[in-house]
Amino acid sequence: MSVYSFKEACDLMLTKFELGGKGFGLVEMYKIGIPVPYGFIISTECCRKYFASGRKLSEECKNKVIEKMRELENLTGKKFGNPRNPLLVSVRSGAPFSMPGMMDTILNLGINDEVAEGLATITSNPCFAYKTYSRFIRGFGELVFKIKSDDFDEAFKMVKHHSMSESLDESSPEFWKKLIDAYKAVLSKHGFFLPQDPYEQLFKAIAVVFESWWNPRAVVYRKIYKISDDLGTAVVVMQMVYGNLNEKSATGVIFTRNPSNGFKELVGEYLIKAQGDELVSGKRTPRPISELKQIMPEIYKQLEDIAYRLERYFKDIQDIEFTVEDGKLYILQTRNAKRTPQASIKIAVDMVEEGLIDEKEALARIEPFQIKQILHKRISSNISVQPIATGLAASPGVATGKVVLKIEDAVRLKERGESVILVRPETAPEDIVGIMASEGLLTTKGGLTSHAAVVARGFGKPCVVGCEHIIIDFENERLIVGNRQVKKGEMITIDGNTGNVYLGPIPVEEPKISDELRKLLLLSDRIRRLKILAVISDTTTAQKASLLDPDGFLFMNIEDIFVKQMENFLKLLNSDFQNDLIYENVLQFTKDKFKSIFKVLDEKPVYIKLVSRPIKEIIPLKTLGAGELLKKHPQFNFRGIRLLLNMPQFYELQLEAIFKAAIETGKKSNLILLLPYVSTIKEIEVSNEIIKKIVEKIGFTSSYSIGVMLQTIRSFLTFNEISRIVNFVLLDLDELTSLIYSFNRYELRSGIIPEYMKKGVLQYNPYEKMEFNIIEQLYNILCQFKENDVKMGAYTSAPITYELIENIEKWGLDYLAVGVDDLIIAKLISAKVKVMKNIDDRIEHTV
Ligand code: ADP
Ligand code: MG
Repeated sequence: MSVYSFKEACDLMLTKFELGGKGFGLVEMYKIGIPVPYGFIISTECCRKYFASGRKLSEECKNKVIEKMRELENLTGKKFGNPRNPLLVSVRSGAPFSMPGMMDTILNLGINDEVAEGLATITSNPCFAYKTYSRFIRGFGELVFKIKSDDFDEAFKMVKHHSMSESLDESSPEFWKKLIDAYKAVLSKHGFFLPQDPYEQLFKAIAVVFESWWNPRAVVYRKIYKISDDLGTAVVVMQMVYGNLNEKSATGVIFTRNPSNGFKELVGEYLIKAQGDELVSGKRTPRPISELKQIMPEIYKQLEDIAYRLERYFKDIQDIEFTVEDGKLYILQTRNAKRTPQASIKIAVDMVEEGLIDEKEALARIEPFQIKQILHKRISSNISVQPIATGLAASPGVATGKVVLKIEDAVRLKERGESVILVRPETAPEDIVGIMASEGLLTTKGGLTSHAAVVARGFGKPCVVGCEHIIIDFENERLIVGNRQVKKGEMITIDGNTGNVYLGPIPVEEPKISDELRKLLLLSDRIRRLKILAVISDTTTAQKASLLDPDGFLFMNIEDIFVKQMENFLKLLNSDFQNDLIYENVLQFTKDKFKSIFKVLDEKPVYIKLVSRPIKEIIPLKTLGAGELLKKHPQFNFRGIRLLLNMPQFYELQLEAIFKAAIETGKKSNLILLLPYVSTIKEIEVSNEIIKKIVEKIGFTSSYSIGVMLQTIRSFLTFNEISRIVNFVLLDLDELTSLIYSFNRYELRSGIIPEYMKKGVLQYNPYEKMEFNIIEQLYNILCQFKENDVKMGAYTSAPITYELIENIEKWGLDYLAVGVDDLIIAKLISAKVKVMKNIDDRIEHTV
């Protein structure tokens, strides 16, 4: 049976799995000569055996404990239960993974009637002795006998009340004696009495600490943090030290760095003349640790020194409990401190610079998803306004504007320079102008991959979807939210970080990319293999992306440029591209859009997907009264390269605009033109001719190349041919899912997925939870046919996850294209995936 003194544990090099985190920390501190009160540890193994043997403390365990107590007596020169020279101990819980405050700890154990008297005499401080005894009775009663603390509070109040009439107060020993009696009465009222035998106290306490492994709060905590129920807790038994002995005594907690911002400064708090548990109880307000410098300068210096040493030793920010007994400092606990995401970045990066940890370790300590949270406009943290409704947080950020329900209204108000929030049941491709005119999007239906959600993420606009509590009353142009109504034109704020919807404007905080985050990104850039492309959709997203230094840019919605010049574009279509003046106009506008984007990009490769959607979807021909035109031009139904081959003028226009914009902005970087919906190499060859023609016509001399979007089954099965003539292919994983199921956009828009999920045909939405095993089989076909070293990339609008990037790493794809908002996590996760063996290793320290 394994019970170890600190020294034995140290010699045996036991780990936190046997000793618990607290015990382990104490043993390590003992090893490097930090002043800790001595003691021993009942290992987690004993705890497991305790439960395995029907919740009984075995004789073997008891005997070991007695043996270790004897050693402790010898070492301290004190005796357990001896009134003339009593040894008192604390019995502390400590699991392998930190579960702060979840389990039980009993202080001052070993005290009884006689010992209390003895202690009063030896310390010449009867108040201290009786107070300590009363506390023990109460602690023991609460934890071992499960008596509610209210009962003790009640007793305390009564004693206080009666003492007043006798003019006794807390500075008088009589007061505490009365309290002892009152607390004992509480015990006997419940049918208990305090064991006077210190060993009986000890064994009961050990069993109770074991039992506290199953405290409901501890069970919940383990569930949340995925800590196994099988580990069990260790028990630390150690000599008590008294922070409440006199004015030269104190207790406190320090952090070796600031856990909220990561600054390198000692922070913490302390209480003079108090025991550790009073610090958290909130009954007395602690003082900031900086004041201790004046009051106990010598102690403060020692604390600084110990903080430094512990940090060097554990190579992480430490959260340290200390107690000063009559002018002598003891350390009672040290552990890796919990910290905010901001602090975790700063600390990791600083520690690399200080040479404490390497880059790999720094990355291991960062949870990219927590970093993402801190990067969007957020509702100011000191605001406590209640939301009027809550939906799904579909695209992060906060937007405020006037409620509009119609696309036309959104456009009209925007033109007048007003901010609007578009509120719709859901959105469709033809709503795009309204979406672009809005600061943010709110839909009452739809999920995280609904049209609204995907488009909003693409545009980097805040979006809340599926907000079912809101009813749109189109007739009266208002929203109904419970018993409240919000009229068209009233201000609302949507919070895409939480899904909350508020009435009126709400103060926000702007996100910042701190120097430390920048350093962290550079560090991950050095480590990762996977190249990350930023999906950009306009100048704003291009600018945002450039700041984050991706490996290239992917522009996928050239269609939007034509939406923005809808009237002219329609005229151009009407004229069959024959009207030179209008052609020039449209060309100019398109070119200017590309110029404004190129200007803010650095010289990284730019991937541009040429128009992919059919013309009839780019602009709502029917709505615009141009139904006839569609009849005359059936090719307006064609997608991607099929349109190119049947209406080359439209593609020539796009190409001319792109190449001219590149020339006029002096862009030197490689342009890669992506052809959508390619099935045969003949299609590629014909496009190639068109592109060459334009390049020659306008004298474009920088480098460019051709890539292909893999969207048809034929392109997979003839990848040998395709890979011979292009040097880049992009897999749109969203479209692959459509291809896998043969879902078309009409089915999707009409809600086939929720319907299937309701019927139990699908257990999950395959667009949200990608089916990697199936996608992998398609990918394997590509690999099987691949003939040349063609570079391969993937794109998805689904959230970036470890699983996604792990799969992409496994497949060996070269590129992943992600939205601007996901750039940071994509970079960090790909670096983490590269260096970490086990991504599931919990990051325990962030709050
Ligand atoms: P938790 O895990 O909830 O922090 P601890 O076991 O750390 O519980 O103990 C609770 C409080 O009691 C802490 O403030 C700790 O410093 C204090 N404490 C524990 N053991 C001793 C001791 N031997 N002497 C003095 N104070 C102690
Ligand atoms: Mg503690």
